[in-house]
Amino acid sequence: VLIRDILSSKQSFSFEIFPPKGEMSVDQAADVASQLCENHPDWISVTFSAGGSGNSQNTVSIARRIEESGKTTALAHLTCMGATKADVDRYVEEFRSAGVHNVLALRGDRVPGREPIDFEHASDLIAYLRDKGFCLGGACYPEGHLESDSLRQDIENLKRKQNSGVDFLVTQLFFTNEDFYRFRDECSRARVKVPIVCGIMPFTSVKQIQRMAFNCGASIPVSVIRRLARAGEDPAAQRQAGLEYACEQICDLAANGVDGIHIYSMNKPEVGRATHDALASCGYLRG
Ligand code: FAD
Repeated sequence: VLIRDILSSKQSFSFEIFPPKGEMSVDQAADVASQLCENHPDWISVTFSAGGSGNSQNTVSIARRIEESGKTTALAHLTCMGATKADVDRYVEEFRSAGVHNVLALRGDRVPGREPIDFEHASDLIAYLRDKGFCLGGACYPEGHLESDSLRQDIENLKRKQNSGVDFLVTQLFFTNEDFYRFRDECSRARVKVPIVCGIMPFTSVKQIQRMAFNCGASIPVSVIRRLARAGEDPAAQRQAGLEYACEQICDLAANGVDGIHIYSMNKPEVGRATHDALASCGYLRG
């Protein structure tokens, strides 16, 4: 199944998982994917981590298990920072043999010791993959990418992704829907025409949300701070506040006709269930 075909026929609902590292095994991660499938996602994306932690192999393993399950389709992430064309060719072969048809093509973060080799920007990877038979997604940033001087410049670069052949975009997480609506308007004015799927992550704690703000540049509105303050020191209450906030956010997005909703489910089946139930109750999910 190609994601561009799904997006041309309906508003999508999907999840992201990360491949196991440390204590979780591939079997356990596949079990999480299987539990998430109970909510009938249109796809499950699997993140990619180059170098260091060495779990990029697990991205392929989990994507294969998702495809083999026959319950949904996999969207395998691939980053190109520090990669040669030969590295990418190797992943292309592995994705093919795992039955993967959808790839989210990314640059990856700049980290000391990993410089661009054959690919400077995600659009270079997208152009390289374009004729290789995959449906291609790319990343976008409703509040602008941290390295960009302005949203306008960032959107100009999104047009490069579009011209390179990207089929759809998935946003970085955001907590204020108005930021997304403004971004969507700007994209449409700049003739970025591919579907834009909203990526939403329920916050789980004060620490986690601070890290998110720093790593992805997502701003934290006072309404979120207020809810976390009300939850106090209780970790369960903080998690519950995050889930409730995300459910309200996605119901508002649903009511505003977004192309798709992608949940950063953080390998937590309960996040999948809660967001599914919220979207079902507001009439977004049908059939
Ligand atoms: P690019 O599109 O290359 O953009 C990076 C910066 O360069 C932007 O500021 C952009 O405006 C600028 N730029 C782009 N093209 C040009 C150009 N031609 N000239 C000048 N400037 C340009 N990271 C991982 O390591 N693994 C993952 O699995 C992963 N999954 C992600 C999923 C989503 C949905 C998102 C939103 C992000 C994900 N990331 C992941 C993080 C991502 O790798 C980082 O945000 C990274 O810093 C940028 O990646 P990109 O693909 O957007 O890069």
